[in-house]
Amino acid sequence: MNPMLTQAAGLALSLMALQALAGVPVAVDVGHYLDKPGAISAHGVTEFEYNHALAAVLAARLASAGTPVRLIGQRGEMADLRARPREAEAAGAGFFLSVHHDSVKEQYLQPWVWQGRALRHAEGFAGFSLFVSRLNPRLDESLACASAIGAALRRAGLPVATHHGVSSEGVARPWADEANGVYFYDNLVVLKTATVPAVLLEAGVIINRDEERALATPERRALTAEAVVDGLQHCGVVAAP
Ligand SMILES: [Zn+2]
Repeated sequence: MNPMLTQAAGLALSLMALQALAGVPVAVDVGHYLDKPGAISAHGVTEFEYNHALAAVLAARLASAGTPVRLIGQRGEMADLRARPREAEAAGAGFFLSVHHDSVKEQYLQPWVWQGRALRHAEGFAGFSLFVSRLNPRLDESLACASAIGAALRRAGLPVATHHGVSSEGVARPWADEANGVYFYDNLVVLKTATVPAVLLEAGVIINRDEERALATPERRALTAEAVVDGLQHCGVVAAP
C-alpha cells in the first residue's frame, strides 16, 4: 500500500475520532506550581505566573467558543505531575493541553541586573514550540492537534522556536512536524500518562528580554489564545464556529 495514502487515511480517521470530542471538556493545565514555579524570566517573574495568566485567557476564550473547560493546577498546589491528567480525565476531559513558557539551557544564560536584581537572560532564542509524546496512547490525534495549533500560531505571525533540536549532549529532540514547531518529547509525564490526546505548549521564551515584554501583554495572550482555539477547531476538538 502507498504509505502516503496510509498516512492520509490514518490522519482522516484520527480527525474523525477528534470530531466526536467537540463539546467535550478541554483540560487546560497550568504548568508548574508555587513551590517549584519553573523558569525565572529575564525580568524576574516566575514561569508559573506566566502560565497561570495565559491559561486563564485561554480558558475564557474556549468557554466563549462553547467548549467546557477544566483548569488543572490553577491554585498552584499541584506537585504530582501524574495527578494532572488523572484529574482532567476524572472531570470528563477529552483533550489535555499543558501551558508553559520556555527557557534555555544554563550555558546560554547571561547575567544582568534589572531594577537592582541580579537576573539572567538569553538573546537569540524566541518563539513557540509544541510537544507530543510517542508514549501517549493517542499519539495520532495529539499530533494532529499540535500541528493544527502550530499552524494557527504561525498564521498569527508567531515564530517557531528551533532551539529544542539542539542540546549540549549532541542529542537532538526529534521533530514531529518541523514546519509547525512540533517536537517529540516522549517522557514528559503529563503527556505520557494521559490517556486522552495531549499536547504541551511552550508559548514563548521568557528568558529573552524582548519576547518576555511581548508575552506579558494582554494582546499577546489574546493572540495566542485565539490561535490555540483556531487550531483546536481545525483538528475537531472544539466545534467549528
Ligand atoms: Zn515549564
